[in-house]
Amino acid sequence: MLLKDKVCIVTGAAGEKGIGLRTAKLFYEHGASVVISDINEQACEKVRSEFDPERSLIVVGNVVSRDDCFNLAKAAMDKFGRIDVLINNAGITQPVKFEEILPEDYDRILDVNLRGMLYMSQAVVPHMKAARSGSIINTSSVSAQRGGGIFGGPHYSAAKAGMLGLGKAMARELGAFGIRINSVTPGLIATDITAGKLDDQMKAKILEGIPLARMGTPEDVAKAFLFLASDLSSYITGATLDVNGGMHIH
Ligand code: NAD
Repeated sequence: MLLKDKVCIVTGAAGEKGIGLRTAKLFYEHGASVVISDINEQACEKVRSEFDPERSLIVVGNVVSRDDCFNLAKAAMDKFGRIDVLINNAGITQPVKFEEILPEDYDRILDVNLRGMLYMSQAVVPHMKAARSGSIINTSSVSAQRGGGIFGGPHYSAAKAGMLGLGKAMARELGAFGIRINSVTPGLIATDITAGKLDDQMKAKILEGIPLARMGTPEDVAKAFLFLASDLSSYITGATLDVNGGMHIH
């Protein structure tokens, strides 16, 4: 029980096969009360029955809306009286080439991944500051580090790299208040973002570049989040944890 009685918010957490829902479930198994948020209303309804209502709160919301983010933090405080952990996980990608990026695509990809992290973090930090404790973890990507993953365009790499910079700056500023901020950079993880987009030949070629010779699972990423959310990582802040099977060693 690494998160007993902790209150943990996970954004982008209603997708059936997603990293967010797997994370919420793992945290719940470790004793946490979980606040699950997602823009997908139907998906939110679907996951509601999977958690005890006493130890969960499911909120439909868009991380690009500052109001939605602050309302989510308020709802968590109203129900549980504290916020210990925030996992900034909501994200979208778009596999296009550099010259194909349209202004509206740039806005969309930067907004959900990067602006969403800013607004959601701004919404929880006052409560964490008051408690003089908290852990915020950001879902960046290997794409930020190597200039492209497999499914993301250059604007996705930029957004995910922006998350690393923002996270490091937050770690410097907020450490004095007992708040730790870290990022995770997943490699290729089998979720809806990647589902059905790889034929066997493509998959074999990709696996040649992964020393652990398999795609990652949402569980692999959730376990890294668990480490960074819990006291096991009590002296770690401003760090980036690779969860990529060795796809990018640097
Ligand atoms: P996913 O599509 O299952 O999860 C993303 C979730 O975010 C979805 O449930 C979606 O409804 C939600 N969402 C989208 N826009 C939102 C918004 N504006 N507000 C709130 N919620 C919103 O995919 P996933 O692979 O589980 O992705 C989770 C995170 O991991 C993303 O940030 C993604 O960029 C990152 N990531 C994934 C991989 C991978 O290979 N799957 C690799 C590196 C990083």
